[in-house]
Amino acid sequence: MDLIPSFSVDHTAIIPGIFTSRVDTIGKEIITTYDIRVTKPNTEPAVDAAAMHTLEHLIATYMRNDPEWKDELIYWGPMGCLTGFYIILKGDRSPRDIYDLILGAFRSVEDSTEVPGAEAANCGNYLMHNLAMAKWHAARFADYLTKNADNPLIFEYPKTERLVTDDGQHFYDS
Ligand SMILES: [Zn+2]
Repeated sequence: MDLIPSFSVDHTAIIPGIFTSRVDTIGKEIITTYDIRVTKPNTEPAVDAAAMHTLEHLIATYMRNDPEWKDELIYWGPMGCLTGFYIILKGDRSPRDIYDLILGAFRSVEDSTEVPGAEAANCGNYLMHNLAMAKWHAARFADYLTKNADNPLIFEYPKTERLVTDDGQHFYDS
């Protein structure tokens, strides 16, 4: 297995926010994966699948059209646990450095009147969208980020010791 850090994220203590998940070097390029946590895991209701799908489309479209960020973005997509998103960017910026990008992306959802790419030709499940709930979650998270702009806890994960199985395998999840 690859190099393993000695800590993992304590999911019982996570609050919503913008967190570095991992930093990788591929060739000469450094890329950073961030977790964008929209709801508090196992405490608040997770985002419903249809709203998550809609947020994926809207925010990917926003980022791919942002002149400052479109060439930095490698990937934007939902977590399987439906509590947030992954974003992969070129470089090794701190979570604070992408605060404006994330806030702007979620704020942009409020003005949306349709879901881009929600046709059978462009989407694997084009009927599974919920723009109204996507707007609700986006506004809630944007308000939260605004209110907590000076709270360091929205930029740093709570750490715990990583689980290791009997045969030495390390356990990862999101
Ligand atoms: Zn889709």
